[in-house]
Amino acid sequence: MMYISTRGKAPNLPFEDAMLSGLARDGGLYVPETIPQMSAADIRALHGLSYEETAFRVMRPFVGDTFSDSVFADLIAKAYAGFGHAARAPLVQLAPGHFLLELFHGPTLAFKDFAMQLIGQLFQEALSRRGERVTIVGATSGDTGSAAIEAFKGLDNVDVFILFPHGRVSEVQRRQMTTPAEANVHALAVDGTFDDCQARLKDMFNDFAFRDGVRLAGVNSINWARVLAQVVYYFSSAVSLGAPDRAISFTVPTGNFGDIFAGYIAKRMGLPIDRLVVATNQNDILHRCLTGGDYRTDTVVPSISPSMDIQVSSNFERALFDAYGRDGAAVAQLMDELKSGGGFRVSQGALQALREHFDSGRVSEAETLDAIARTHRTTAELLCPHSAVGVQVAEAARRPETPMITLATAHPAKFPDAVERASGIRPPLPPRMADLYERAERVTRVANDLGALTSLIMERIAK
Ligand SMILES: *Cc1c(COP(=O)(O)O)cnc(C)c1O
Repeated sequence: MMYISTRGKAPNLPFEDAMLSGLARDGGLYVPETIPQMSAADIRALHGLSYEETAFRVMRPFVGDTFSDSVFADLIAKAYAGFGHAARAPLVQLAPGHFLLELFHGPTLAFKDFAMQLIGQLFQEALSRRGERVTIVGATSGDTGSAAIEAFKGLDNVDVFILFPHGRVSEVQRRQMTTPAEANVHALAVDGTFDDCQARLKDMFNDFAFRDGVRLAGVNSINWARVLAQVVYYFSSAVSLGAPDRAISFTVPTGNFGDIFAGYIAKRMGLPIDRLVVATNQNDILHRCLTGGDYRTDTVVPSISPSMDIQVSSNFERALFDAYGRDGAAVAQLMDELKSGGGFRVSQGALQALREHFDSGRVSEAETLDAIARTHRTTAELLCPHSAVGVQVAEAARRPETPMITLATAHPAKFPDAVERASGIRPPLPPRMADLYERAERVTRVANDLGALTSLIMERIAK
């Protein structure tokens, strides 16, 4: 199994190298050259399996000979052992035909743990075999950074540096990044916005001397291994509702398009998915694009679902690559237009191809609060604001004959202020992390400056 770049100009790589490099050197994203297929019988055989066994069968064909069967199974077992729910991704019913997939039982209470916990294990195994060490640097608006720190803390072959905007993440998110005591964890509070953090990260990757010198590795949502890990719960949840003998639809609270793109891969592998519905908050570039064909950036308006406050949805490039018939030159041109002019128009043919799989909806702040209150009233389930955006869109989009699964992407206790405002209830942290507010914090404040950041990183890893 080889991986190719969406911009057509980087070398093809096997799974291991695509995973360790993250971004392709032509600026593109890696995708599998062909999509492995699961037959109806293969899917039927998943009935009754544990999450880990399902994960093994779904991901195995993508990994090639990077890991042996027994090593891969062992890494999957380690990745999910720390989850707070035996089912890992339990499904609960909200209404007739409408289900909620709870993806927030991992160590940092957001769905990003599914991918991050696994790639922590995969990195560790691949690097110790190669006798190599890498420096992981990530930028976060909150959830990715805590998930990465939790996944890589204490591992021998990595240092992990997370840039977050000083004063602009929730207290739970900050404490999840600043309280781990392991020496290879470095939480950096940057004097700037999330966009500044992302821009400095990009600068570091474009500084090839620094990039090669510290062996920089990226674990942001464009890393193929993260998308792959997320394919699994589409299978496990659809199978528990009767797939492959019944089609299922999914609604996904969306920002960078990584989570919903995993659903698209599941569909391409043979899982009978009817609709994949993109749910956005007021930062609705994807909804505007899928309805009108114009992909144009706007300024980010902060919302109560901050993990979806994006201007550019990086993984959308992967969907465009397929919609344009896997024409890397066409994708590269769109990305140039985005960079120089702030947007592009999707061709009629490509838009039609996207609409074959994806629907979309946009939710206002007031509707989000109302969805939290209403769902709590009718089901006693407390939704985080991101999940509430999903539920609101799903209720409008679903068709009576097809079950709808909405992905619950974070635990309500991660966003207690918004949840309390909507429902009057302040959701408590799960008992296993109830002492989060008492643990000591460790953080370094840094200027929004490339030189300051690179010298800090080099100094730390020299120790
Ligand atoms: C990251 C995140 C999202 C958006 O997921 P994408 O894969 O970027 O589309 C939604 N909800 C929560 C809670 C998140 O942390």
